Amino acid sequence: MDDLKYGTRNKRGDWAPSEPVQYAPLFLFPTRIVAILKWLPDYFFPWNTIFAASAVAYWAWVIPPIETMQALGIGWIAWLYAVNAISVLFFYGAFELHLYVLKRQENRFKYNGKFPAEQKSKAFWFESQNIDNVLRTFLSGVTIWTAIEVAMLWAYANGHAPWLSFAENPWTLAIVALIVPIIHEFHFFCIHRLIHTPFLYKWVHSVHHNSVNPSPWSSLSMHPVEHLLYFGTAFYHLILPSSPILMLYQLHYAGFGAIPGHVGFDKVEVGEDKLVDSHAYAHYLHHKYFEVNYGDALIPLDRWFGTWHDGSQEGEARMQERYRKRKEKLAARKARVEMGGAAE
Ligand SMILES: [Zn+2]
Ligand SMILES: [Zn+2]
Repeated sequence: MDDLKYGTRNKRGDWAPSEPVQYAPLFLFPTRIVAILKWLPDYFFPWNTIFAASAVAYWAWVIPPIETMQALGIGWIAWLYAVNAISVLFFYGAFELHLYVLKRQENRFKYNGKFPAEQKSKAFWFESQNIDNVLRTFLSGVTIWTAIEVAMLWAYANGHAPWLSFAENPWTLAIVALIVPIIHEFHFFCIHRLIHTPFLYKWVHSVHHNSVNPSPWSSLSMHPVEHLLYFGTAFYHLILPSSPILMLYQLHYAGFGAIPGHVGFDKVEVGEDKLVDSHAYAHYLHHKYFEVNYGDALIPLDRWFGTWHDGSQEGEARMQERYRKRKEKLAARKARVEMGGAAE
């Protein structure tokens, strides 16, 4: 597959798409029905379908009976941790093995020409991005994911969360299922913006940003506080008319859904001539430039707040202009403080 048909590669070997990143055509005024209809298949396939199907599979084969979950017990909690850990190992591991270990796609469609294993860094535990990322994923990531899952299932089992049946409320639940990714985007943007404030960035979010060149295991490589905030998206289902299956979909959208954004490749080649879009470029730019693209281009929040970078030259210029203005402001503030000091 010739990736230069879709983008360009610079001297360092970094590939970039030639088309700027597009926002989902939702939230446009006036509403563009045709554009939305054209975009819908992309919304469902393959990613959202995978996360929704895994939630259904969990409900059918993994989640214990309601009576068991009415009381917290080490047995079923350990079981859920084990299934989550094994699922993450296989799902994340499949991308890691295919793209980073066996390098079946070499560096075709790879944003950063280098592979993390080639670069040692003191920022990571054992100076290895992979070891650090894997440990953080299983020690705190899957643990906090499971803890929130257990809390929510316990709440459902004891009647503390609204639980609608699909037979009686098919339309309400269909709408909630449709907006699960939108809830995620809204929630993620808010907590992400919050942890980019100086104090929280230093103590919490910098852990995730150590992976400037993200790879599959970077997806859940976060500080425990960020894991708590990130998976906290499940708590919306304490107030929404929902069901445990949709709550699981919400969790899987966060847990497994972090993968496409950190896969490091714009497209994953499947078979001879099929390409699956990762939609990762916006978040890749976030890892590269830090203060752009707090969201994932589903709701135009970054555009509304002026932090959108679509990968184009105009996007780059907008970002530089914002940085320049901020520098000026800081310089002016410093000068004022100094003058105040001199006057005393
Ligand atoms: Zn990230
Ligand atoms: Zn960030």
